[in-house]
Parts: sequence; C-alpha cells; structure tokens
Amino acid sequence: MEGPVCQVAWGCYVLLAISIGAHCAMSSDNLACPSTSDLRTQPVAALDKEGIGPAMTSIPMIACSTSLSEHHSGGSGTNKNKQMVEQLQRYGVISSKKVVEVMETIDRALFVPDGTPAYVDSPMAIGYNATISAPHMHATCLQLLEENLQPGMHALDVGSGTGYLTACFATMVGPQGRAIGVEHIPELVAASIKNIEKSAAASLLKGGSLSVHAGDGREGWPEHAPYDAIHVGAAAPEIPQPLIDQLKPGGRMVIPVGKIFQDLQVVDKNLDGSVSIRSETAVRYVPLTSRDAQLKGY
Ligand code: SAH
Repeated sequence: MEGPVCQVAWGCYVLLAISIGAHCAMSSDNLACPSTSDLRTQPVAALDKEGIGPAMTSIPMIACSTSLSEHHSGGSGTNKNKQMVEQLQRYGVISSKKVVEVMETIDRALFVPDGTPAYVDSPMAIGYNATISAPHMHATCLQLLEENLQPGMHALDVGSGTGYLTACFATMVGPQGRAIGVEHIPELVAASIKNIEKSAAASLLKGGSLSVHAGDGREGWPEHAPYDAIHVGAAAPEIPQPLIDQLKPGGRMVIPVGKIFQDLQVVDKNLDGSVSIRSETAVRYVPLTSRDAQLKGY
C-alpha cells in the first residue's frame, strides 16, 4: 500500500493499538496484556494491585472488548452479561453448555457493588478486604465442578462473599438439591442475601434449597454434609480436614491452596474414601483466615 490509503490504514492501526493497550492497562490490575496465544491458556490469577484478590493475567477478553467501559448503572445488564459469557467461550475458558446457561442466568451485575464495572474480567473489591472473583475464575471453578452440580446434589461454597457462585450452584442443583454459602463477615452475608434476592436464584432462596450462613468456613457446614461439590473462594495454607471429611465419596472440592504461591487444587474423594489431589493452575486469592486477621488486613 502506498500514499493516503496506506497512511489512513497505518493511522487506524496505531489508534487500535493505543486503544487496546489502554484497555488492558486499565483493567488488568497492572498486569500485562497477553498475546493472542496466551488467551487460550488456562487462567493464571495473580495478585491485584491492592494485593487482596485474584486477578486475571492471561485472559483479557472482557478487558480488551467493548465491555471495558461498561459500568453497571442499575439497568438491565442481561445483554452485556451474555456478551461477557460469549467472550469467555470465545477464548476457551468455558466449553460447557451448562456453565454458559448458568452464567447467562445469574447476572453478575447484581452481585458487584454499585458503581463497579460488572463485566470486566477482573476481581473487584467488595469491602472488608474481600473481592468478588474475576469472571474467568468463576467460570473455571463452575466448569471443574460441573459434574458434581447435577440436579439434586449438595454443594458448599466456602467464603461465599457476594453470593454469586452460591447462586450459580443453587441454580445448577435445582430445588431438589441444596446449595449452602458460608461466609465469616456477617455484613457480606446480609449483602449477599440481598443480591441473591434480586437474581434468578431468588425463588431457590425463598424455597430453602439455597441458604447463606455466617460462620468459619474452615469448619465447613456439617448440617447438610456430605457434599457432592465444595468450592472454597479463599486460599487455605493447607486443605482443612473438616472440608475433606464433609466431601461425599465421588465428590469434588476445588480449593486454592498456598500462601504467596497458590495452586487451585482439585480434590476428588474416591468411592473407597481415599483422596486424589491435582493442581489445576496457579492462582492468587485472599486468604482463608480468621475474621480478625482479615479485618486487620491479614
Ligand atoms: N467467591 C466469592 C468471594 C471471594 S473472596 C465471590 O466471588 O464473591 C473470599 C471470601 O472468603 C471473602 O468474602 C472472605 O470474607 C471469605 N473468607 C475468608 N476466610 C474465611 C473463613 N475462614 N470463613 C468464611 N469465609 C471466609
């Protein structure tokens, strides 16, 4: 290409590059925007800039899309939520139809604090030194647990925070199943119940198959054990024994384990009661700790 056509094309390219760069810098918590080849890798979560939660480093599909500028303004975000899910599919984070369905059903915007960008692929502060996890981490955990979230099954969400994943679990296990959230900050429990009441999982909360409780999640929630699925939304220095005990034979737990360096571990309880553990990916979550330590900033 030569002359004006070339100049126009080059100008567009530069503008596009600046625009993509700005989007990535704004939304990826000071982490580099990856190359296209990285987009198909497993998510690698890393400390966000406040050092309090999981943040994406490798899948900026929302950050680099038109959703970046999206701020929840209280209106219906259904289409934008759908676009976010489509992006997660496009970049290979979600391959399961059921995970697509549930993430389309439960609108993420209802779970983030007012004024927070709802559909950016990044964790967001929710107060009390806690965060709502990034969409790609929610998607990854839902996908890892999918087989153990069949209708009628029991699921436990430890460190349920905003209640987003508890609502997803409840939707997947349905009214005959049971989804329990356990969160140790009572204010977050109250806020999560309000979030769920606005969501498509409201009837499950009302019907009693979904409940959220204030408590130390390291003890699990024995009342409705054993569980087919356990999700832990905060990083444990080691896997708490009560959670292993409350896992059903055939059940699966997904839990971030470690302090500075953390792995998302997949714990399968075999039918003979033995346990197999594998690491899925490197992550960085807030710690699974005491309420006091968390409120003091760890
Ligand atoms: N998965 C949730 C929240 C993730 S942040 C979401 O995406 O909304 C981790 C949560 O774990 C925080 O809300 C924090 O308060 C909670 N937490 C940390 N230690 C805990 C413990 N010992 N018992 C219960 N909740 C705990």
